[in-house]
Amino acid sequence: MNDQSDSSDARYQRRMANKKRVVDERIRSASEERGVLIALKGNGKGKSSSAFGTMARALGHGQRCAVIQFVKGQRETGEYRFFRDQPQVDFHVMGHGFSWEVRDVHKEREAAEAAWALAEGYLNDARYHFLLFDELSYMIKYGHLSAERIATALSHRPRHQNVMLTGRTLARELADIADTISVVQDERHAFRLGVKAQPGIEY
Ligand code: ATP
Ligand code: MG
Repeated sequence: MNDQSDSSDARYQRRMANKKRVVDERIRSASEERGVLIALKGNGKGKSSSAFGTMARALGHGQRCAVIQFVKGQRETGEYRFFRDQPQVDFHVMGHGFSWEVRDVHKEREAAEAAWALAEGYLNDARYHFLLFDELSYMIKYGHLSAERIATALSHRPRHQNVMLTGRTLARELADIADTISVVQDERHAFRLGVKAQPGIEY
């Protein structure tokens, strides 16, 4: 019995030592220091909330951050109420300040242009360490902004700047230049079980 457990302990130690060698080697070879472009896509719940969680992480390190939410809604979300008061965060919501009673494509384009002009300003400003362009993909999908133009601005940003993009879809031009892409898959959502959207979870 003891022999057996000794040998399984030895096997475990060997496995751990091997694993450590592999991990150490990977850490040694990942030596480049630069900002990354992270895209979160897919139909599941968790893209925007993950991006805001990452921003909280950046803020914990004292990094200067900016958020642009490319959404139409006038509703104040929990993330807006919380992060707008953080001194290191600039928070813009495309929908705020632009009102459209009915779907008006010209007004939407105008709002998208104005929001993207702000984004380009941040992408040219090395003081900002972390940028979040939330739901940007809709602007491309609706034809309000060109994916090429966005990709060009992202490619010329300051080297240390980290950028996160969220949205259900991801344009090929952006996927081509992203460093990290995660797909949030929809396996189940409480909404389909009949649970009403609630503050603190949905918005
Ligand atoms: P979250 O902001 O909660 O991280 P998300 O950014 O991944 O969600 P969006 O596509 O932006 O998802 O949708 C935003 C809203 O729609 C959220 O209130 C979210 O709970 C809800 N939602 C997301 N995915 C689904 C789904 N598969 N079915 C129903 N509602 C969803
Ligand atoms: Mg979202």
